[in-house]
Amino acid sequence: MEKEGRAHHAHVLVVPMPGQGHINPMLQFSKRLHYKGLRVTMAITKSLVKSMHGQTGPIRLETFSDGFDDGFKIENNFVEYFESLKKVGPQTLTELIKKQESLGDPISCVVYDSFLPWVLDVAKQLNLIGAVFFTQSCAVSIIYYYVQMGLLTVPVAGPVTSIPGLPPLAIPDVPSFVYLNNESYQAFLTFVLSQFPNIDKADWLLFNSFDKLELEVVNCMAKLLPVKTIGPAMPSIYLDKRVESEEGYGLNLFNPNADTCTNWLNMKETGSVVYVSFGSLAKLGDEQMKELALCLKESNNHFLWVVRQSEENKLPSNFVEETLEKGLVVSWCPQLEVLSHKAVGCFVTHCGWNSTLESLSLGVPMVGLPQWTDQPTNAKYIEDVWGMGLRAKVDEKGIAVKEEIEACISEVMEGEKGKEIKKNGIKWKELAKEAVDEGGSSDKNIQEFVALLCQAP
Ligand code: UDP
Repeated sequence: MEKEGRAHHAHVLVVPMPGQGHINPMLQFSKRLHYKGLRVTMAITKSLVKSMHGQTGPIRLETFSDGFDDGFKIENNFVEYFESLKKVGPQTLTELIKKQESLGDPISCVVYDSFLPWVLDVAKQLNLIGAVFFTQSCAVSIIYYYVQMGLLTVPVAGPVTSIPGLPPLAIPDVPSFVYLNNESYQAFLTFVLSQFPNIDKADWLLFNSFDKLELEVVNCMAKLLPVKTIGPAMPSIYLDKRVESEEGYGLNLFNPNADTCTNWLNMKETGSVVYVSFGSLAKLGDEQMKELALCLKESNNHFLWVVRQSEENKLPSNFVEETLEKGLVVSWCPQLEVLSHKAVGCFVTHCGWNSTLESLSLGVPMVGLPQWTDQPTNAKYIEDVWGMGLRAKVDEKGIAVKEEIEACISEVMEGEKGKEIKKNGIKWKELAKEAVDEGGSSDKNIQEFVALLCQAP
């Protein structure tokens, strides 16, 4: 009886890394698990919960400590933050899991962010199923895996052609930690490689991607690791519409200017607006910010630009006032609502993995201005593999000048390549939906995962 009872009430604990680009897909995956009959709790750090807005719907929230319960800005000291989380987290997360047991609601499986490998050790000590969730593409993950296994020497000195399933990658196409060599990047490289050493103990490897999107790499990777794609992990309302979901992701670390954006977009013509955003973390250099601002000011297009509060001081003086006629600058927006609005014709993006998947799945052409981490590789795929946009070329200082950005925007919105890109957009939109819809590749993988949890002793 007990086994059967547990089988129908498998309770999953989902532990994302504290960051918008990690919580978003893991919350959506949680909603899919819930839709398939599991109970799901998400564990968030006490420090993060203070700065969050929104709702998690049917997903319960519990908190644990990262050692900074009064708040901490990760971007101020990344190394200090993750050291504290790794030191304090195992104990406080164990307490959270034991508390569920004492409440008669035991956890049977922990799904953890691949950047928090210590969570797997916690799960295994408590005899729980451990599933790792990768929030970056399969292509990027296999590159890091090769580095970790000593099969690719860093910093790379020339094009990377040795990884099966990947197209030849020039130096600027690989993740920045793999081609740059300085002290702070060393810490990041160590961090991204930490995803792999204990991975053989994980029962499941889940990737926020879908098979047809990364077919060759998924097939090659499957020979090394038991890869299961489960994405795109976006609100169902934008894809198969089977799972009850909000229009947004649910939890925001920044306050979105939702009505302002929608009202403004409603007054614009179809396909006429350039949407510009660099996600939750990327910081543009002063010069890059100036070139982009001049490009937007001088171009003929309307634009909606997300400039986070911490970046505002880089805007040229009076920029907002001088561009009121054609532009709207906000500190955060409901990105999915914006991307799916018919007025938006192009997305100037940093090519973060979620932004890339969202744009692809909604068929919105992109102009890539990748900044660091996995973004260069995503930009390469956007342009050369998926045919979903153009990557702005940079000068010898690494800056994409205003003429270059403008040329890319024009080509994507009105040029010959733009026509091809729009056609591809229709294809990817369809394939993304197919993957998560009933019987699709991601849906089958999620179903298999759920079935395993339901059988677990
Ligand atoms: N996002 C948003 N509003 C914004 C900018 C971004 O809701 O104004 C969301 C976006 O939809 C995506 C996430 O924030 O889901 C950013 O993740 P991504 O991987 O693209 O970039 P990161 O922030 O991790 O660099």
